[in-house]
Amino acid sequence: MEFKVSELEREPIDFDLELAPGAIDLGEEAEQVGPLATAGRAEVLHEHRGPRDIVADILLKGSFAGKFQVPCARCVEPVEIPLSAEFDLIFRPSEADSEPLERSITAPETEIGYYQGDGLLLEDVLREQVLLSLPVRTLCKPDCKGLCPRCGANRNLQPCSCDEGPNDPRWEALTDLRSRIKS
Ligand SMILES: [Zn+2]
Ligand SMILES: [Zn+2]
Repeated sequence: MEFKVSELEREPIDFDLELAPGAIDLGEEAEQVGPLATAGRAEVLHEHRGPRDIVADILLKGSFAGKFQVPCARCVEPVEIPLSAEFDLIFRPSEADSEPLERSITAPETEIGYYQGDGLLLEDVLREQVLLSLPVRTLCKPDCKGLCPRCGANRNLQPCSCDEGPNDPRWEALTDLRSRIKS
């Protein structure tokens, strides 16, 4: 869904829709595995920078909720997580701030995004908002055993042969050294 400034100039647009699974491409970090519900309102805000210098910003306020899949931080098996968040964003035309010294920023800079041409794609905004709301680290279960650093086997499924043998403190010291070298 695209919000065009020319349309928003006439009236704000309220949206309430459901995007099919996979509609938002999140790259390597996550996958949208369920429908993504999103609702909100888009409108234009005119920034009067001078008598002839009026910048048309797009205000976008809303929320999303959906189901996503991310790799477990230890064993990289996919883990399903529900995510939802609210957003309240300002987008300026990308050419409006080409002169950094002329910037007149009232809101904290981090809240300001930019739109190209004459509009903004809701999907692009959602992609960014979903990525921002992803947890830093997700585990498939609190005690996930992870992958064997030596043979790469998933140790939740079966103990690998690397684990065999007595626990000799000298070997442990070596293992410790190896993991330090690897990391
Ligand atoms: Zn895991
Ligand atoms: Zn192993």
